[in-house]
Amino acid sequence: MGEPIAIEEARRRVLAEVAPLEPEKVELSAALGRVLAEDVTSEVDVPPFDSSAMDGFAVPPGATGRLSVVGESSAGHPFGGPLEAGEAIRISTGAVVPEGTGTVVPVERTRTGGGRVDVGSPDEGANIRRAGEDVRAGTAVLTQGAELGPAEVGVLASVGRAAALCGSRPRVAVLATGDELAAPGAEPAPGQIWSSNPLTLAGLVVRAGAEVALNETVPDTPEATRDALARGLAHADVVCVSGGVSVGEHDHVKAAFASLGVEERFWRVAMRPGQPTWFGVGEGALAFGLPGNPVSAMVTFHLFARPALRALQGADPAATRATAVLAEPVSRHARREQAVRVRLELNGDGRLATPTGPQGSHVLTSMLGADALALIEQGEGDVAAGERVEIELLA
Ligand code: AMP
Ligand code: MG
Repeated sequence: MGEPIAIEEARRRVLAEVAPLEPEKVELSAALGRVLAEDVTSEVDVPPFDSSAMDGFAVPPGATGRLSVVGESSAGHPFGGPLEAGEAIRISTGAVVPEGTGTVVPVERTRTGGGRVDVGSPDEGANIRRAGEDVRAGTAVLTQGAELGPAEVGVLASVGRAAALCGSRPRVAVLATGDELAAPGAEPAPGQIWSSNPLTLAGLVVRAGAEVALNETVPDTPEATRDALARGLAHADVVCVSGGVSVGEHDHVKAAFASLGVEERFWRVAMRPGQPTWFGVGEGALAFGLPGNPVSAMVTFHLFARPALRALQGADPAATRATAVLAEPVSRHARREQAVRVRLELNGDGRLATPTGPQGSHVLTSMLGADALALIEQGEGDVAAGERVEIELLA
């Protein structure tokens, strides 16, 4: 069976199997949360023309005192001609600054009356946003792998794009095994519990930018397990099955994957929680056998399945790694690396990590308020308060 492998080795074996999915064109209105699959260079200057930064009057270079108001340039409605000596036009924020303008005088610094405006002695060249001040034509604004948040989508629009090439969303089959599982809200039969993994895992899939292709609960028989895994492999890029992966008489996942031609890449990781984690590759699909315990399922998803989902979309799987300083001591485990659920706060040294409470693999409430997993290396004694540890960010 082999010894359990280290978290980093397991992650490396997962990522070694990932080839990014074929990118697709996505309208900007649907691009939030997607991963850019192209480098974007602006073909235009932004802003595209010299424009006013204030509501006021555009005046010629060196103009002072009283000037005739000969027209207006408002946003979206430029003034027809150039500005001549002795003239001014009303101008609003964002409106085109006409040729022949030396400065824009804010309206608060003027007095108007009888078709004329007194501008006093204005500062030369003020309150004009020059063409290209934000982006010069020919410069790169975003690179492949960028995760599109509101600002990124806004910048794409500002340079004239209506769509962008993005990594496709991986389709994920979420399968939960267990005869003891009752649907939330259903009357549980004796010995049954309400099933949480289908909801936590589907939530994590969506948060990772992927789609839930199917979500089924599977009884603990070899036939039902094999059928459900076959459906998952046929309909999804990634199969995440929880429970049934261990070596008990009622655990059928590993044998079912094997019978479907899915090749094992690892079985068991030297970690807590989450030791009984299995990973394999089938034809065109990655297969994760996650432990059934609700915390273990979430933790192993974060550490192994999420990096795969990110990499499939073309995002950097390492971007969710950081470091934090422990707020309290954590005792090491002799033979397993621990993934301790922690809350993060910012202090002078950066991030400070405080464990969320009891850390049992069945204590799902330990995930409440958790911002990260603090990775505590195996060994003797404590990792002291104040020591810096690696963390996997959850959000
Ligand atoms: P297993 O990995 O199938 O041996 O399950 C390990 C533990 O996780 C058992 O206590 C199961 O009852 C529990 N478990 C398995 N699946 C779920 C689920 N979907 N929701 C809540 N608990 C589960
Ligand atoms: Mg089970």
